Amino acid sequence: MSAAAGAAAAGIEAIEPLRLLPWQRVTWQRVSEIAARDRLAHALLICGPRGSGKQQFARVLAAALFCRARDAAGLPCGQCGDCRQVASGSHPGYMAVSPEEGKRDIAVEAVRGLCERLSMTSHDGRAKVAVIDPADDLNLNGVNALLKTVEEPPPGSHVLLISERPMALRATLRSRCQLLRLPLPPRAEALGWLAQAAGPGVAQTKLDAALDSANGAPLQALQLLRDGGVELQQGWRVLLDGLGAGGDPVGAAAAIGEDQAGPFLRWLFVYVLQLLRNPGRAAVPHHELGRFADELVENLRRLEINAKPQLVLEALLIRWRLLAQRAHS
Ligand SMILES: [Zn+2]
Repeated sequence: MSAAAGAAAAGIEAIEPLRLLPWQRVTWQRVSEIAARDRLAHALLICGPRGSGKQQFARVLAAALFCRARDAAGLPCGQCGDCRQVASGSHPGYMAVSPEEGKRDIAVEAVRGLCERLSMTSHDGRAKVAVIDPADDLNLNGVNALLKTVEEPPPGSHVLLISERPMALRATLRSRCQLLRLPLPPRAEALGWLAQAAGPGVAQTKLDAALDSANGAPLQALQLLRDGGVELQQGWRVLLDGLGAGGDPVGAAAAIGEDQAGPFLRWLFVYVLQLLRNPGRAAVPHHELGRFADELVENLRRLEINAKPQLVLEALLIRWRLLAQRAHS
């Protein structure tokens, strides 16, 4: 790992697990006002773009539901036993489910187990909090397993559902949840936060590039800085520009590599959206960009159902070259 990447990694670790991210304060204020009126629903749908800090928000909220030393804003103290256990994921009343490694859906057994634990009365009558991350990965069985708990919540239970695409969730589930929408910060605020989190010595151009690639989402930008994604994506930009100048799509596909096909397609999708918003910058004819974005989505889906990554890459890059050459002609 380079020194810069190391510094950035130190930055991401420095995000305190129970501290609200600065751009989440308005949403938090809303939550604490609702809670003060005793109107907080048992099931909350925490949604927002990738990199907006939904997990962080859910963890702070969970800690606040346990902590007995909250501050005036209703935020958890971060120091007590409850807070520390939530931060480390070891709190007996705190449970979380996600898809298992390599699986697309959250296993229905995991959802059932979680509902069972929520229904058991805790010995001290204290809260229980279940986090489903992401709720987008619940399949029909998972949703059905969860519905009863959400419809008739056991006393003291809270279900926090995390979602990037709340409108794609089944209406039966969504309609029973209180919606909390997390915003992305304005660009200047995002850059300020990113500079601080990444640590000293990261060039402004690199911070800008990371935030662009992350579509303005600070946590995702920090992740890109941390894992060398910015350099990788700059290399992809060079490959695309090379295709416009008559480069070889098959060679470019090989240079990207099979294991990076998914990340490359997702990056290219964001890049195409940026080109759509800035007509002057288009490397391919502007009127073709929308259709190309649709093709990217379709190909991402094909990758998920085991299409050969190399073939997907080659076909898309051949198409990109065609479009780029048309823009130049
Ligand atoms: Zn506490």
